[in-house]
Amino acid sequence: MPHTAKNINLEIEKQEILRRYKCLLRAAHKSKTAKDKQLIRKAFDIALNAHKDMRRKTGEPYIYHPIAVAHIAAEEIGLGTTSIVCALLHDTVEDTDITLHDIERMFGKKVAKIIDGLTKISEVVDQSASIQAENFRKILLTLADDVRVILIKLADRLHNMRTLESMHRNKQLKIASETIYLYAPLAHRLGLYTIKSELEDLSLKYTDPEVYEEITQKLKKTQSVRTRFINSFMAPIQRALDQHHFKYEIKGRPKSIFSIYNKMKSKNVPFEEVYDVFAIRIVLDSPSELEKSDCWRAYSLVTDFYQPNPDRLRDWISTPKGNGYESLHTTVMSPTGKWVEVQIRSKRMDEIAEKGFAAHWKYKEGSEENRFDAWLNKIRDILENPESDALDFIDDFKLNLFADEIFIFTPKGDLKNLPKGSTALDFAFDIHTQVGYHCIGAKVNNKLIPLSEPLKSGDQVEIITTKKQKPKEDWLNYVITSKAKVAIKNALNEEKKKIALEGKEIIQRKFEHLKWPFTNTNHTIIAKYYSLKDPLDLFYRVAINKIEASHFGHLFTLEKNKLIPTSQIVSKTTSQANPENYVDLKSRKDETLVIGETMDTFEYKLSPCCNPIPGDEVFGFITISDGIKIHKTNCPNAVQLMSNYAYRIVKARWTNQESIAFLAGIKVTGIDKVGIVNEITQIISSELNVNMRSISFDSIDGIFEGKIMVFVHDTNHLIQLCSKLKIVDGVIHVTRFDSN
Ligand code: MN
Repeated sequence: MPHTAKNINLEIEKQEILRRYKCLLRAAHKSKTAKDKQLIRKAFDIALNAHKDMRRKTGEPYIYHPIAVAHIAAEEIGLGTTSIVCALLHDTVEDTDITLHDIERMFGKKVAKIIDGLTKISEVVDQSASIQAENFRKILLTLADDVRVILIKLADRLHNMRTLESMHRNKQLKIASETIYLYAPLAHRLGLYTIKSELEDLSLKYTDPEVYEEITQKLKKTQSVRTRFINSFMAPIQRALDQHHFKYEIKGRPKSIFSIYNKMKSKNVPFEEVYDVFAIRIVLDSPSELEKSDCWRAYSLVTDFYQPNPDRLRDWISTPKGNGYESLHTTVMSPTGKWVEVQIRSKRMDEIAEKGFAAHWKYKEGSEENRFDAWLNKIRDILENPESDALDFIDDFKLNLFADEIFIFTPKGDLKNLPKGSTALDFAFDIHTQVGYHCIGAKVNNKLIPLSEPLKSGDQVEIITTKKQKPKEDWLNYVITSKAKVAIKNALNEEKKKIALEGKEIIQRKFEHLKWPFTNTNHTIIAKYYSLKDPLDLFYRVAINKIEASHFGHLFTLEKNKLIPTSQIVSKTTSQANPENYVDLKSRKDETLVIGETMDTFEYKLSPCCNPIPGDEVFGFITISDGIKIHKTNCPNAVQLMSNYAYRIVKARWTNQESIAFLAGIKVTGIDKVGIVNEITQIISSELNVNMRSISFDSIDGIFEGKIMVFVHDTNHLIQLCSKLKIVDGVIHVTRFDSN
């Protein structure tokens, strides 16, 4: 009697297995050829036989599981024959006598490789007590050779989650938390939204069963209210869509249980405040050339009836999300005073949103196989992104799907599309020119970064502005977008023109003084003399003190109302090397040599005997063979030079340019103690940001003497540095010394 019962049981099971198998074949609509069907049949037969004595925890035949995984892979992810074969065989190597070698012999290298990957994931991820992102990433990367491994693994995980009921509580918790930590984000990044949602809901069901149950129950109870609301909300829109002969479908799904749960948790509000926040989706059946305009026409109809919130318009059609998501979202006010999100998209866009890239490539040109390969390659690219740290890996599993563009989020979550290599400054200008102009810094993912740093896809960028900020010349090195470049150049030009006006006035006064005609021709001659582009440049440089208008008098002479550079005359008369060259200089009695002036026509050197720096009283001394040497007026050699060679002395003064650093020597003496040298150099280089050229310390009987050569801007800078050093504990004397 029990024997018969068992037989009947087996017979029913056999029929059930076959029914499920046939159901799989129907779902495998990509596997059309006889060869495809033959391969699937072969895999099914081998798996069926290999698992024949095995049962799942539920008591069901084990083969139900591989069939279900293959079914998910085919129908819900849209994979083809190879994947179906692999899904059917995915547990054979790990759990049965079949070896990888057998698989390769029967199905070839490709299938064997995928099965190998799935077996390894199972060993590392599923068997280990605690999952580590590092391991997961390594495995994924080694298997990135064939991304189908990951997609089949997702199908496997989804079926395990659907059948988690019969597992031990411990196992349930482990699998459910792994799912929420790894697999749901993975599905999300790959654009498999439906699978992602289901994985999240199922995880919640096991990690927080009470909350899950509560939300489920409340959703059931409020079902009819919601349906009524949606129906009355949609009625006028439907009528309008019909009138305009749209072919469409309306979906009014509530949010997933998990997303309701998330909202309750993050906003700390009860179910009642979030349950009726739902999206209504209008899916248009439009030919591809009309889908964009159709979506906007439908938008127009919707907003004929309901007032849209202008801040909540999202146009993912003109700028699709990186993972391929396209849709038009608007949030409108319903008659009952509730905001309702309306999503408008074409059938194609809807399929991409539900199934991810597999659907996307379906609509592209090329053979089925090529398109699929291209898709797999894209996913492989994401997985191989070498920049990601192990722990950031899941997070970095972002939107790197398009190679030459990056997607950046504003703090509010809006998306901006920029060319790869764009910086925070590019982003600032992309938001608005004024934001760019006043940008002083940027936070990327809440961390301050330099404006010059290239952004990565998925970064959330906040621009910090201040009214005082103005565009700087070096900004041009930080930006790559033409929008930013043009804006910066414009601003710099405006600024330059403003400053140039001052220079023009200075020149005008000088011209009046010299009784020269203030003509454009003459401006151009001077500009040319200084190798400048145009008079504007000349005015600008005079205004910022790069060119001294006071030099003009001896640099040019007037001939028939036109200026001629004197150097042309001089070079004619002194073309033979004249050892008494300095006589020319001597003739310019009231000439002042401006040190630090790049445009200056005279060669000069700072004398190493006294190391003058800006702020020091100085004079120039014309040497026979070495140009002009600059000495301090209190230089030990000065008295002798001035008394014996007064005719070779030129007046000199410093320009007020801060960008030039001059070498000066500091002598420090004090009590030698541990760490004092370190403290001194710390103050110089870190605190005051002064560069040192050399440093030497001697210590005798507990007293040290340090000699430091530093680069400073002027005497003030040096005095500041010395007084800082004087207050160091242990330091007795700080003096400037001249000779190095
Ligand atoms: Mn499995």
